[in-house]
Amino acid sequence: MKILVVEDDDIVRTLLERVLTRNGYTVVAVEDGARGEEMAVSDNFDCIILDLGLPDKNGLEVCKFIRDHNIDTPLLILSAYNTVNFKVNGLDFGADDYLTKPFENEELLARIEAITRRYKSGKGNEVIELGDFTMDFIKREFMVNGRDVFLTNSEFDLMAYFLKNPNRIIDSKELAENVWEIKFDTKTNYINVYMSYLRKKIKEISPKNYLQTVRKKGFILNV
Ligand code: CA
Repeated sequence: MKILVVEDDDIVRTLLERVLTRNGYTVVAVEDGARGEEMAVSDNFDCIILDLGLPDKNGLEVCKFIRDHNIDTPLLILSAYNTVNFKVNGLDFGADDYLTKPFENEELLARIEAITRRYKSGKGNEVIELGDFTMDFIKREFMVNGRDVFLTNSEFDLMAYFLKNPNRIIDSKELAENVWEIKFDTKTNYINVYMSYLRKKIKEISPKNYLQTVRKKGFILNV
């Protein structure tokens, strides 16, 4: 597996290179956002690790640039900023996960493994057609009434979980554990934020209220 590391801090970058290489990854490391963008669009990686505080630009811009170029490689943001807002922003810009510095090597490796596994399993050879929805796991495409809806990786995985479990109330805990494979702090707002993104994107095509909130219980996809 090949990983792109975009990190300006020499110590952290060297540490990442050492830990990842020791665990069997091939690492390409760059020090600024411009080179990160250049590498991301010119080569194929299995995962991208991106620092937010870069010398030439904000990592969120780099993340957006990469997604705007239709590169859906799993992307982990690594940053010293530890506020929910920054996390939600990063995920909003198309990152798949977020790890705060300082981090434990084991946690870093576990997160990388989780996002790359999710990405690959989502690439299985299956298409789900259900009601007005079509989800193609090979092309990672999602359609409503035959029209493409562009979803970020996390939105795609969330929608996939609903499509695999239609017409059933699913609580936040189940979503967190199955979609993100990590235990979310239930006090944070992640899932509601994602649900609102998904609904908004679907609403642009169909006014039907497919994804409903069931008060105090969770969410349900009605098809
Ligand atoms: Ca930095």
